[in-house]
Amino acid sequence: MKGWNGQLLRVDLSKPKARAQKYDGKLARTFLGGRGFAVKILWDELRVNVAALSPENKLLFVAGPLSGFLLPSSGKLVVAAKSPLTGGYGDGNVGTMLAVHMRRAGYDGVIIEGKAKKPVYIWINGGRTEIIDAGDLWGLGSFKTEKEVEARHGKPIGVLSIGPAGENMVKFANIVSQQGRAGGRAGMGAVMGSKNLKAVAIKGTQEISAADPDELKRLGTDAHREILDKSNYDFWKRQGTMATIEWSQENSVLPTNNFREGVFDEAESIGGFIMEKMKVSNRGCPNCNMTCGNVIKDSTDEPSELDYENVAMLGSNIGLGKLKEVASLNRLADDWGIDTISLGNAIGFAMEASERKLLDYEIEWGDFDRAKALAGDIVYRRGIGSTLAEGTRFASEKLGGDASDWAMHVKGLEMSGYDCHVAPGMALSYGTCSIGAHHKDAWIISWEVSFGRESYAEAKVDKVIELQRIRGGIFECLTTCRLPWIELGFELDWYPKFLSAATGENLTMRDLNVIADRVLNLARAFWIREYQKGWSAAADNPPPRWFKEPLTRGPFKGKVLDREKYDAMLQLYYGKRGWDTRGIPRQTTLETLELLDVAQELLRYVKLAK
Ligand code: SF4
Repeated sequence: MKGWNGQLLRVDLSKPKARAQKYDGKLARTFLGGRGFAVKILWDELRVNVAALSPENKLLFVAGPLSGFLLPSSGKLVVAAKSPLTGGYGDGNVGTMLAVHMRRAGYDGVIIEGKAKKPVYIWINGGRTEIIDAGDLWGLGSFKTEKEVEARHGKPIGVLSIGPAGENMVKFANIVSQQGRAGGRAGMGAVMGSKNLKAVAIKGTQEISAADPDELKRLGTDAHREILDKSNYDFWKRQGTMATIEWSQENSVLPTNNFREGVFDEAESIGGFIMEKMKVSNRGCPNCNMTCGNVIKDSTDEPSELDYENVAMLGSNIGLGKLKEVASLNRLADDWGIDTISLGNAIGFAMEASERKLLDYEIEWGDFDRAKALAGDIVYRRGIGSTLAEGTRFASEKLGGDASDWAMHVKGLEMSGYDCHVAPGMALSYGTCSIGAHHKDAWIISWEVSFGRESYAEAKVDKVIELQRIRGGIFECLTTCRLPWIELGFELDWYPKFLSAATGENLTMRDLNVIADRVLNLARAFWIREYQKGWSAAADNPPPRWFKEPLTRGPFKGKVLDREKYDAMLQLYYGKRGWDTRGIPRQTTLETLELLDVAQELLRYVKLAK
């Protein structure tokens, strides 16, 4: 095999032992890598209804066949497991040198099984794996942990670690690398903590074998140059995704006060232009010349890496309008290893509950000191923080009354940063994303605004499907970043060429779309097998707030989502996907995607339409 290493590493922490395992070309050609491999392995190997924080769950780090080569924005991997937050399939991508070193050590993925008796970290030095005592690292933040592991083993290496949020199994703890690159917002850090695994470090030095190394090198050079020449490259380097704050404000989609509104009075003070004045450096993922992490000094003069999502969720969504304070919350979250998006939801939810006098805890919109204290209470599971650490869905159920109307999540995963009172396409994207409410798979919002945002037209359903194929399918399986394409207009045609030179496989965009559909359907089958008879189309609904509570401010004052029209859109989406009215893939759909065995397994739990 070329491009793919054809080998995974299994580390069983219970025994403890590690072994390399070859896989065949069929897996590579049908699931590609990254998310594709992760979904397939979890489907095949996890016991149904396994407790997500038990030793039986598996934690996967999987790269795609382009990762580690000198191709644009290719230093990524996917972290995946059954999610403790949602009970369904969970994953996230991280830009990290660990992806590069893992591939150069000869592995396309590492599968962590079992649970260590006491805290450990895994050190993979080429073909040799050691499980090392981490008693002295336990309790440290992710920043110090990474530095300490690097000091022990010497740079350059790749490190992924958890902070105290993962150790304390906060259900939206993530996994962190390089002082601010984080992934796995559906609780992958909690799964890592449940295994007593503090960090994974890899050093890999061998060349990854390519089918046509000269062509791959030429393509990489040309592609990097083309990105540099793009007309909006300079502005991107200045602001990255932070320019979206002003755009969201102008278009009334900036999440404000727990997604009550789409405009925020202090948007300008947390926006891209003010950030530029404070910026001290750019950070980025390996092999990327777009380096979109904007570093500013926070309110304690410490560096904090900002992007749109963390500023929207820890800024406007909790009513906080001072960028240095937002940066402080963000830096603490990265160091603690807790997802900034879900944290912004949890704090916003608590602020609203406090305002409604439903909570024996006082915290007002925009109160930085209280927000910081509450974030710490969540991470260390103190008082009300312990309830919020279980996720906003759980907290709303515990609170009772109408709290579930304004707990902003889909399938238990908290909403990322776009208000959808007047964005039905984006609401559908959140509703049908493979991990819960996340923008990654189908960021339709900018297209939707220019298309006509109040429309429920069929074109929006088509666009969601198209984007889910490209973003949630192709990019997540290749584990290359979508941003060169979406932000700078770097053509998709490059990717089949990269794949051909790397692997020797001549896959067309059409072939890649089929793989994307296969992966999405298998992820959906995973959810349905876990939920079984509890599954219904209601699982794909955005939160009731957007249907019931009109915006009270801004250009779309008085607007809400239309329940009937959303339901019709969802059914149209199901029809185009080859799913029945419950959102369950039809037997023929699974068979067409070469998932016959999946259909047979699903039949044990639910009826399948033909
Ligand atoms: S564009 Fe940003 S997120 Fe994407 S690979 Fe580059 S630095 Fe990472």
